[in-house]
This record gives sequence, C-alpha cells and structure tokens, in this order.
Amino acid sequence: MRLPPMLPVLRERVLVRGIVQGVGFRPFVYRLARALGLVGWVSNSAAGVCLEVEGAEELIDEFVRRLELEAPPLALIDAVTRERMKPATADGFVIAASGVAPGEHTLLAPDAATCGDCLRELFDPADRRYRYPFLNCTNCGPRFTIIEALPYDRPATTMGSFLLCAECRAEYEDPANRRFHAQPTACPACGPVLALGSHRGEAALEAAIAILRSGGTVAVKGVGGFHLACDASNPAAVALLRRRKNRPDQPLGLMAREAALVGPVSAVEARLLASAAAPIVILPGQPSVGVMLPYTPLHHLLVAAIPVLVMTSGNVHGQPIVHDNAEALRSLAPLADGILLHDRGIAQPCDDSVIRVLEGRPVPVRRSRGYAPVPIRLAEAVGPVLAVGGELKATFCLAQGREAFVSAHLGDMENLETLEAFERAYQHLSKLLGIVPEQIYCDAHPQYLSSWWAQRQGLPVRRVQHHFAHAAAVLAEYGVPAEEPVLAVIYDGTGYGDDGAIWGGELLLARRGGFTRLAHLPYVPLPGGDAAIRHPERLARAHLFAAGLAWAKPDRNFELQLRRQIQCVPTSSMGRLFDAVAGQLGLRSVITYEAQAAIELEDLAGTVEDAGSYPLSFETLTPFWHALVDDQAAGVSAAVIARRFHNSVIEATVALCSAHRGPSTVVLAGGVFHNVLLLQGLRAGLTAAGFAVLVPRLLPPNDAGLALGQVWAGTALPTG
Ligand code: ZN
Ligand code: ZN
Ligand code: FE
Repeated sequence: MRLPPMLPVLRERVLVRGIVQGVGFRPFVYRLARALGLVGWVSNSAAGVCLEVEGAEELIDEFVRRLELEAPPLALIDAVTRERMKPATADGFVIAASGVAPGEHTLLAPDAATCGDCLRELFDPADRRYRYPFLNCTNCGPRFTIIEALPYDRPATTMGSFLLCAECRAEYEDPANRRFHAQPTACPACGPVLALGSHRGEAALEAAIAILRSGGTVAVKGVGGFHLACDASNPAAVALLRRRKNRPDQPLGLMAREAALVGPVSAVEARLLASAAAPIVILPGQPSVGVMLPYTPLHHLLVAAIPVLVMTSGNVHGQPIVHDNAEALRSLAPLADGILLHDRGIAQPCDDSVIRVLEGRPVPVRRSRGYAPVPIRLAEAVGPVLAVGGELKATFCLAQGREAFVSAHLGDMENLETLEAFERAYQHLSKLLGIVPEQIYCDAHPQYLSSWWAQRQGLPVRRVQHHFAHAAAVLAEYGVPAEEPVLAVIYDGTGYGDDGAIWGGELLLARRGGFTRLAHLPYVPLPGGDAAIRHPERLARAHLFAAGLAWAKPDRNFELQLRRQIQCVPTSSMGRLFDAVAGQLGLRSVITYEAQAAIELEDLAGTVEDAGSYPLSFETLTPFWHALVDDQAAGVSAAVIARRFHNSVIEATVALCSAHRGPSTVVLAGGVFHNVLLLQGLRAGLTAAGFAVLVPRLLPPNDAGLALGQVWAGTALPTG
C-alpha cells in the first residue's frame, strides 16, 4: 500500500498591526485556525496581535488570506508581516497570555456603538440581559474610554473590578461565543449598575425617564462623559436647559430613536449615523441641526421612552466635559433635576464627535469619540514628539515613527480646568502608547496657555506659526511630498503672525519645511482685541472707518479710540471680515458663541441664489465697503448682500490664486472653512481654474488640526 505523500509542515509567525485589539480579533484567529486544522497560538502584544501557525503551506496561505478578508467588523488591519519559523511540536491552537514586545505601539481601538446582536438581546424579554444597560460584546462597546493600560485585557480596564459571574465566564471562555474574550462583557448579575439618588437599576432608569417626561433635565453618564438630557419635544424643557447651561442660541445636539424624526437624511448621512463611531451628524437646513443615534444600551432604553432627546455635553460653560461621579454630583447638580450614574469608570473622557456631509463626503467638525485615538498615518517617520496645538478647540498630537495620534477634543484652553484636562489626557495617552517626546512644538502666540505649558516641560520647544500649521496639517493628511510647494488659502479667525499682527486672511506659498506669505487681507485695526470679537457691530465700524466711511449712529469714544489707535491690534482676519459684514447688516449686536454672526450670515446667504458680487481685493477693501453700503442705501435685502459678499470672497480668492499660479495645488484650511457656501464655491471655482484642491478630511479645518500641522511642519524645520 502506498501512503499519500507527506505534505511539508511549515510554521510561520504572523504579526497583525492596526486596530486589532478589543475588536474580537484573537477569537476570530482562534476559530479560523481551528477551522483550517492549524496548530499554534495567538496573543495580544504591544505591537498588535501576534500569532504562530503550523501546518501545510497551502493552508497557512489560505489562513493569512482569510485573516484579512474575514476580519471582525471593527478591526482595521494596517499591515500583516510573516516570518518563517522552525516547526515545533504542538497540538491544538490556543489563545496565549498577552505578552509585551517592546519598541512598537499597538493601536488602541475607539469606542463602538451597540451592535445589532446586542440590541436584539436588550429588547428580548427571554434574554438574561433583557434591558441591561451595559451589555456589549467583541463587536461593540466601550474601548478607549475604559482602557487604563495596554495590552488590552480586562484587568487593565475600568471593568477590572467587576468579577465575571459563572455564566459570563463560560461565554468569555467559549471560542464559539460572541463574547469570547470580550473584555468589558457584563450582565445584571455581575456588571455595573445604574443609580439615581437612592434608586438602583431599573428603578433608577424609571426615575430618570419620569424626570424627562415631566420636562426636567437629567445628567446621564455615558461612554466618554456626561450629557445633559431633556425631552426635545417639550419647548419649556429645552428653554430650561438652555438657561441652565448658559447657551441661549447655540444649536443643541439631539439623540433620536430614528434620525428621520429630526429631518431628511441622505444615504451618506444615514451610513455615518449608523456607523460604529456614531457621531453627531449636522443635517443641512435653516438652521442646521446636529443629531446622533443612541450608541449605548442605556441610550437605547432612554429613547425607547422618549423618541428625541436633547443631549448636550455635561459640562459647566467653558469647562471640560464631566466624567466622574463625584464631580458630576458636585458640578452638574445645579444644572439637572437628577443625575443618572453608574459604577463603570471612565479612564479617558471623550466628547461626541461631530461631522457634516458635503458633496457626499464627510467633513469633520469635531473628531473625538469613535475616532480618537486612531492614528493618522504619516508619509515619513518622525519623533518621538509632542505638539500642543493652539487655544480654541484644543487637541494635542503625539507622534512617533509614521503614526500621529491626535487627542480627543479638549475644549477651549482658556482656563486652568481645561489645561488640567489636557495634561491628564496627555499623560494618559503618552503612558498607553509608550511615546516619550524629545521635542515639543507649540503655537507662536505668546499668550496661549498651551505654549506656556510647553515651555515648562524641560524639553526643547519650537514655535510653529499658526496659519502655516493649518496648511501643514493638510499636507500631512494627504502625504504631499516635502519638497513640493502648494498655495495655501488660510481663512481663519485669529492667529499670531510673524509681525505681531493678528493674521487670518492669508495666501501662503507653503511646503512642509517652511512658507512665504504671498498676500493677505489689508490690515484693519481691531479695537479692544477679544472684546470686539463678541460685538460684530464694532467690527463693522472699524472696517468702515478704515474704508473712510461714516456710520449712521455716531459713537465719539469709539471713533476716538480708532483715530488714536488706542488698544488697536491690526488684523488681516477673514473671520473678522465675515463678522464685520454680519455686523453691518445688523444681524446681531452681541454674539453668545464663537462664529455665531458668521454662521447666521452664511445661513442668510444660503436663502438666495447667485446674485452678483462686489469688487473685493487683497490690495484694498475700500471699494468693497463702498459698494456694500451703496447696496444697503438702495434697499437691497440683507440676504442678497450676504450672498454677494460670499461670491466676492470666492471670486477674489480664485483671482488671487491664479495670479500666483506656479504650484497647481491649493490647500484650503482655517476655521472659516466650516462655512459650507464658501468652501463649496471656492472648491468649484478653483477646480474650474485648473487647480487641484486639498481640503481637510480627517481632522476639522479649524484649530483642532493645528497639532498635527505643528508636528509635520515642525519636524521639517531647519535646525538652529
Ligand atoms: Zn455587541
Ligand atoms: Zn455576568
Ligand atoms: Fe486657526
């Protein structure tokens, strides 16, 4: 009898990098290896998921192919490397204890919205997790916000103190189960519990729902922090919450059972809303409204009772989001009628992310929960370095090798509390990733808290000009080669310029290692600095004064201040020009949140179709203001004037770029580009003029992108 030829037995070590921890990857590897009859082991390491398989060559090849094709839904594979090993005697395939291979980072998984399987269990009266607000599995649940250390294992999370009950343990150890090695798994017998006052569990939930139904406010502990919630269909409840939060006008985020309850939703918007990241999506309309879907079991239980909730960040005006129970009881008590707590800790606070869809593509407005801390891949290795960003919408960036980790949204760094939140977030991420910076980059503004902090770390610090950093962030995102220059149109609110003036309406010739300022809006004295920013009418007066125009209601003191240039800072800011036009149109005398007047100007302009333009140039604004004031005198509507102003900026910018053609690529960045009308119009105009246009797509166009730009530009600055 002839035996079949023996197939040669091979052994390979495979390293899988990417988002492969906390997403059910080891159980998936286990099942795949067993199905193919391969022996070996799999383990989490600090470098990713490491495994060894032994068997016939074809089977190992098939294993690696299917590893990438059939990976779990939340996994994001960056690279798979294979290495031939000596065959070892082993039988079976096991999940080995986590090891730590020094030198490389693993990628932390972001938090993920409740999956369909868990949702079915949540509302199935026969399931032992029926109405349990903390159920999750390897396909969903909290991740980044509960991880205290890496590698990702239960004891290294805030679930470490909850001992698994016998049933949960059996699921956790069963390779065929959806909860096989699901680190945060829990059930009513062994997991976290809700609390509201003296109520526990379902009674606490019922008490919260009763408060919401009666028009009250409930502080609800979520994944990355607290929300303040009320019934969105009750105007008195919404007005009460607005008063308590000191947000009279700013749009409030909504959480809806279905997005269609709030407004029409496009296919792309629907996909984003239902994604694992579950961001707030800004739906177009007048005025636009931000909505998200429930992303935790607790949220699902709440919207089952009240279909649309206002869900705004649980913080005191200007302070970071509240994320621990004691702090909530102290600082949110005056803002809420009840505080719905639970005993699962939040290791890292994380606000909701905000996205808008433009021409079918997502544009981030705030990149935080569900996205942070997924690294941005750099075209070249850097680091280890830290960039501390700017002041408003602060984020920091830790980078090493080809990975740039941009932090979750930290808020406006204008007070000590936000600086402390920044410092904690930095310590936490630095420890998790094992990145110890040797160099710090910060903004050139002498008064930013972030820059002040940077100087105190005992490390070399270099300053990167604000608008150059805006441009460099886009260069980093797109991996534009370092030696290739681009035209960068940076339209921004405020940024410290190399000449001590406030810049913000800039055309730069930029490449990774440096920039030249080609053109800017004419300097206009900004009286009273930051105070003027809150008064669009004063900005209008300052602009009219500069254009030699008188204003209707004289104000001697203000005129004197302008004439004598008392406390006047020259600015070329495009953001301030938008404010000034809004002020001149009388849209608003005082604003209560950043860019409010400019947003209202955009909304107004969006109500009319194309309507001509004014002679706006970067040499002088005088003819522009004369034409605008003439229109007003002739009784042209504010909406038409607003539209003509938008058109003017677009036309002037296209003309300016064409005049400086050389580079054929234009980068658009800066906070003013949250203006959709402007961004769309300018992109179309520049494309028609033959330019390739790059706009931010991973990070917001505003100051949240500065830290990445500081890293990318800073690491290429000439030394000395
Ligand atoms: Zn699940
Ligand atoms: Zn249990
Ligand atoms: Fe900026």
